[in-house]
Amino acid sequence: MRLVSAGLILMTSLVFAAAGDKLSALADFQAAAAKFNSVVTLPVFETTTNEVATTTAKTIADGNAALDRIGKLGDDQVKFKNTFVALDDLNFQISRASDRLALIEQTSTNADVRDAATDAMKRLSEWAVGIDYREDVYRALKNFAAIDPQLDGEDKKLFDDTLRDYRRAGLELPKAQRDEVEKLRKELTALETDFESNVTKARAELKFSKAQLAGVPEEFLAQKGIKTGDDEYTLKANITFHYIMVEDNAQLEATRRRMMTAQCNLAREANIPLLQKILVLRDSIATKLGYQTYADFATETRMVKNGTAAIQFLQNLKDGLQPKYDAELKEFRLLKTAETGDTNAVINSWDWRYFANQLKKTKYNVDAEQLRVYFPYQNVLDGMFKIYQRIFGLKFERVEAPYKWVDDLQLYTVSDAKTGEPMGLFYLDMFPRDGKYNHFAQFGIIEGKLLPDGKYQRPVCCLVCNFPPPQPDKPSLLSHDEVETIFHEFGHAMHTILTRAKYSRFAGTSVPQDFVEAPSQMLENWPWDKKVLDSFAADYRDPKKKIPQEILSQLKAARLATEATRYRRQLSFGLMDLTLHTQIHATNADDLVPLSNKILSDVSFPVPPDTAFVAYFGHIIGYGAGYYGYAWADAIAADMATVFEKSPDGFFDKTTGMRMRNEIYAVGDSRDINVSIEKFLGRPRSIEPFLKRIGVAPAK
Ligand SMILES: [Zn+2]
Repeated sequence: MRLVSAGLILMTSLVFAAAGDKLSALADFQAAAAKFNSVVTLPVFETTTNEVATTTAKTIADGNAALDRIGKLGDDQVKFKNTFVALDDLNFQISRASDRLALIEQTSTNADVRDAATDAMKRLSEWAVGIDYREDVYRALKNFAAIDPQLDGEDKKLFDDTLRDYRRAGLELPKAQRDEVEKLRKELTALETDFESNVTKARAELKFSKAQLAGVPEEFLAQKGIKTGDDEYTLKANITFHYIMVEDNAQLEATRRRMMTAQCNLAREANIPLLQKILVLRDSIATKLGYQTYADFATETRMVKNGTAAIQFLQNLKDGLQPKYDAELKEFRLLKTAETGDTNAVINSWDWRYFANQLKKTKYNVDAEQLRVYFPYQNVLDGMFKIYQRIFGLKFERVEAPYKWVDDLQLYTVSDAKTGEPMGLFYLDMFPRDGKYNHFAQFGIIEGKLLPDGKYQRPVCCLVCNFPPPQPDKPSLLSHDEVETIFHEFGHAMHTILTRAKYSRFAGTSVPQDFVEAPSQMLENWPWDKKVLDSFAADYRDPKKKIPQEILSQLKAARLATEATRYRRQLSFGLMDLTLHTQIHATNADDLVPLSNKILSDVSFPVPPDTAFVAYFGHIIGYGAGYYGYAWADAIAADMATVFEKSPDGFFDKTTGMRMRNEIYAVGDSRDINVSIEKFLGRPRSIEPFLKRIGVAPAK
């Protein structure tokens, strides 16, 4: 790995020389880092299939050599640094390669390179499973543990969590069983990678006539790639904003139904057999390790602690929302009856978005599409940057990226506003293109870490988004939802960049999975605040025009008016995920589609006939029995937001922002997350703000 790093420095300096002055800002930034005993490294991205293969081979070879060094330590040679810390050093190097490859897999403009990255990720994750089963390494760690070392703080947590990982990998089991767990885990990771890449690759092109798309905004239909013939429009069920445009606006029920059915069948053929195998393998691994269910295994290291508690949490919310949910459905039915004349109208899964949108337009006078004029992309971005710089005490500066995988890629430096200390870098890859990841996410590229030489590696990350591209006659205009999304995703970037954890396993967003969304979910409150909006949102045709207070109030009322429907849908995903990870075993894998459809239909709307939504639900892999975490974290987020709301400067409050930066972002997972949350809140947690927000009456 050291050779790769040396190559990396060399390559960047060559590019510097070639590109001249424009890059000097970046060079200055790197030089400033040295003054703070830290390092800012520009990732060097693989651009050919060969480079991808070389990186993979090298990562594995260097990793094996590092493991050998730990494994060879004699009983009297073991120290904290050459065992537990050395393992963290190794994991840091592996994720440095695999994080970069994961980003390339989702963003490269070359399909062969994307495929090569998928293969590389598969090879790396299969190999990484084997790390857990290096008995020589485990023996060295146990030898050090046998000394009964007196550790505290982050060191103690590294020690405890590492040993817990080995126990969870099966290292305390008799050899035959442990070998079996290792074999199953390797099979599992390969299948997981395939499932996720099938989700990314899934395509469904639907052709419609103008009449079939009645109600869908003209401007959207006029876009390049959508109008494909005289009276032919091509929409893709796999592109989220195409899907939402139709579901929100198409007046013909048959059109909405066709789009939704296509989406709910994406990746079905390929992924259902895979998911059956995945769930059976997960179940079997968990049982062999002594857990009742995979849900219990997966939640042990999270805030919720076990599967039963997670199911109970969602079930309580489902029941609590029932009265409001019934009332919302009644309103939708009235609208559908008024529109169709059918007094027995039923709201189907493909109807609710449309009637929720109609309700917003008719009862609350809110037309989501018309609000876009207030949110030109660049103004939103600049306005958001101003707020985050202010509350977290930071300075962002745009610099020229030495290498860009797309022309409009942007790179920014982040430094502490007071001291000038370089904190890290972020890239922005903001508009859709063919073959690119089709949601919104923050990708870590280099994690924070105290390096063996005593310097601190500052982090680098990238936002990968799909905002509407600018048009010849007007800028990219965001919906209010998309404004919320960018506030959310950029929050993850802050979490990554502002870390001060010593060990990479605790750095940035590496916090318990049912907490990781909370800080970003909290930041979704910002674009609902009048003062926040007034600081950047203005009609692009006439910047003097701000969003009127009454529109904002109506927007809030409209949100609350459909919140139970939206939330029940979230809960249906969470309960489906937990149930599959509790109830699917080797004997009933064929129940996968019927069982998942049943839960979705019970908790939210009945699914379209003959569909298998679960095949396209990528979170079933990455979050494995963890989707409940959205609701769990939402509860914490609503609680945390009240701290800002009650502070003198509200959502602009610097003192509260700095407390957030220091107690949550900087600390990461280096101490118990419950402690960090309470330190930020300044009091114990409360679920009341959350219940109030989603419209559940307070418990009596
Ligand atoms: Zn998120």
